[in-house]
Amino acid sequence: MQQTQNTTLLIIGGGPGGYVAAIRAGQLGIPTVLVEGQALGGTCLNIGCIPSKALIHVAEQFHQTRHHSQQSSLGIKVSPPSLDIGQSVAWKDGIVDRLTSGVAALLKKHGVKVIHGWAKILDGKNVEVDGQRIQCEHLLLATGSSSVELPMLPLGGAIISSTEALAPKALPKHLTVVGGGYIGLELGIAYRKLGVEVSVVEARERILPTYDSELTAPVAESIKKLGITLYLKHSVEGFDADKQHLQVRDPAGELLQLDTDQVLVAVGRKPRIQGFNLECLDLKMNGAAVAIDERCQTSMRNVWAIGDLSGEPMLAHRAMAQGEMVAEIIAGKTRRFEPSAIAAVCFTDPELVVVGKTPENAEQDGLDCIVAQFPFAANGRAMTLESKSGFVRVVARRDNHLILGWQAVGVGVSELSTAFAQSLEMGARLEDVAGTIHAHPTLGEAVQEAALRALGHALHL
Ligand SMILES: Cc1cc2nc3c(=O)[nH]c(=O)nc-3n(C[C@H](O)[C@H](O)[C@H](O)COP(=O)(O)OP(=O)(O)OC[C@H]3O[C@@H](n4cnc5c(N)ncnc54)[C@H](O)[C@@H]3O)c2cc1C
Repeated sequence: MQQTQNTTLLIIGGGPGGYVAAIRAGQLGIPTVLVEGQALGGTCLNIGCIPSKALIHVAEQFHQTRHHSQQSSLGIKVSPPSLDIGQSVAWKDGIVDRLTSGVAALLKKHGVKVIHGWAKILDGKNVEVDGQRIQCEHLLLATGSSSVELPMLPLGGAIISSTEALAPKALPKHLTVVGGGYIGLELGIAYRKLGVEVSVVEARERILPTYDSELTAPVAESIKKLGITLYLKHSVEGFDADKQHLQVRDPAGELLQLDTDQVLVAVGRKPRIQGFNLECLDLKMNGAAVAIDERCQTSMRNVWAIGDLSGEPMLAHRAMAQGEMVAEIIAGKTRRFEPSAIAAVCFTDPELVVVGKTPENAEQDGLDCIVAQFPFAANGRAMTLESKSGFVRVVARRDNHLILGWQAVGVGVSELSTAFAQSLEMGARLEDVAGTIHAHPTLGEAVQEAALRALGHALHL
């Protein structure tokens, strides 16, 4: 007879959403089982956030060393470097291993039972893994997302997804990235800095089309300077593997043959809703995602969904925050998922951050706002980092100066996302940020100066 295990909380998926929910549930004394079919840490730790930032770091170091070997205004003299990509990938894998082992240790420490295997849902209270039945009071779905594929570019051989691009055995001579969103550009820029010829094909009229053009302009400039070829308003038709030609149609309708030995398809991600009998629950959907309320409850009582499975924004920090919250709700706490803002960061060169409302969002909402920006060209720290491009921008209500949003583009601005999110979450006004002493010399001074400028008295401009 089939053996049945019982638990209070059963989590399907050990990505940032699922594992954080499990750790918090364990801390709160909730008997918890976590089922993971691949590796703990999910997309984020294994094939997403962490590996991409590791590769970007390798690429930046290589690029800088090569730059200094050719022309260094800093007085650094080095020989032209060479690259052992196998060792770079091994270094990246070492970081992934350390982090995923850390997750396993934390789960163990908090008494979470981890089952390695693929879960199949039987009903809202029963799940099967490798013939073993697990019965639960609460079912938390955290199955994440997968790359969107293009029918004319089936993955395999020279056509790869971000997963293969993050673990290259050898570098191609020419990589063509299909998709000018953040994943395509982060990887495209990294490959270019590793010495690969890179082209980007994007169907829309500019890169990073979900962000405003003022914000993306410094990234577009840097891409041009790096020698990446952009094919904007071009659509992909197919790939001729023998001739190594990517066929794309230009805006005039002409068919072009682009020479390339590898094609990276990076056209987005979709919630993972297939392959585990989710359909048997007949849950309410929100497009391709599982619909959830402000407590991450699905349309079925005690069935919860978090992270990429529940749709946009598909970001690791959102998944983690939802996971922590659901564990607390199951433990009896009163919680709602109502963040003032969730920061979105592109680790391009330069980096780009958006938190809260942009000027366009504020206008659409009919809000009368002050918009002010402070350029890094006037920031001492940016100069010492050899990077004067970009700016910090603030959006605040005109009547009471409540800050509604921050945007920034420039070197290292990903680290400013913390201050931006905190100021929004704490309901800061322009005067609060302008009146806070910001350490000198830091990029953060541009944050204070943007607030000062919104109040009409920037000091260093
Ligand atoms: C290249 C790349 C770069 C990225 N960079 C960033 C970034 O810089 N910052 C950021 O915030 N986000 C980034 N993301 C997005 C981020 O990785 C996701 O938003 C995040 O991982 C979502 O977490 P999750 O827990 O919802 O799902 P996932 O991390 O996808 O985890 C889901 C897990 O569920 C498991 N699973 C699925 N079905 C079953 C089943 N039936 N049984 C058992 N296990 C199952 C899967 O194996 C997987 O491990 C990036 C993504 C990619 C691809």
